[in-house]
Amino acid sequence: MTQLELATDRGHVVAAETLAASPLAIRGLTVSYGEKPAVFSIDATVQDGSMTAIIGPNGAGKSTLLKAALGVIKPLSGTVSVYGAPLEGQRARIAYVPQRASIDWDFPARVIDVVLMGLYRELGLLRRLTGGHRQKAMDCLERVGMADFAERQIGQLSGGQQQRVFLARALAQDADLYLLDEPFAGVDAATEKAIIDVLKTLKSQGKTVIAVHHDLATITEYFDHVFLINVRKVAEGPVATTFTAENLQKAYGGRLATAQIEELELGAG
Ligand code: ADP
Ligand code: MG
Repeated sequence: MTQLELATDRGHVVAAETLAASPLAIRGLTVSYGEKPAVFSIDATVQDGSMTAIIGPNGAGKSTLLKAALGVIKPLSGTVSVYGAPLEGQRARIAYVPQRASIDWDFPARVIDVVLMGLYRELGLLRRLTGGHRQKAMDCLERVGMADFAERQIGQLSGGQQQRVFLARALAQDADLYLLDEPFAGVDAATEKAIIDVLKTLKSQGKTVIAVHHDLATITEYFDHVFLINVRKVAEGPVATTFTAENLQKAYGGRLATAQIEELELGAG
């Protein structure tokens, strides 16, 4: 097959090479909870080894897009491929940190148990926990600075601490692709630093990180690629060329004042 040979996927013509290499390739994805689609006809091709921010206003479909990429909600139409293969066989390669507000911590669970959940695929049906598994979970807690909290109840931790534990659970999975939904929302500065350090380490190991991100002021510092969405895709690409005033205006419309956009001191656009 030559480099220029094309593959046709549900009517969209895409370069075969791009599909094969991409950790996450989405084609024609539409998801609807009711009559109105929450995301409509989305195409996305995430670059291998990139850190991609998904941005857009409230209700733009950012969380929905991640959930569809994980296969936890069924799309009306469209395909998701992970490292060039259908999602179904590739789930073990994806780790997910959900939006914190969506979790209710009333039930009792120790921090270490939450991290051990990340190992469920490795444990298999027998669910026999060994010292090795516990050590691995402790190592992951160490990486997010939470080893001292292993025996604490998750419900007793601060929001930022809970977020770090969730990241530790994702790390325990040894995934290749990491999907995070607003990992920095409502966390303290120390947690934000701890999380970004872990994500940058993952990137340096060749992993791919995709995060829904709400703080436009840190996009340039934290991410190398950006995906703008408002039900439909607005734009995707490198931060330097895609994170522009024009694209932000398209995605946010009146919800982001021109003054705010100017404050971001965008280079291009
Ligand atoms: P974002 O994460 O960008 O804020 P969401 O993906 O959470 O947006 O939501 C997109 C749209 O879908 C919103 O209008 C939201 O109200 C709706 N929605 C999200 N989840 C559900 C659900 N479980 N049932 C019905 N509507 C939903
Ligand atoms: Mg959301």
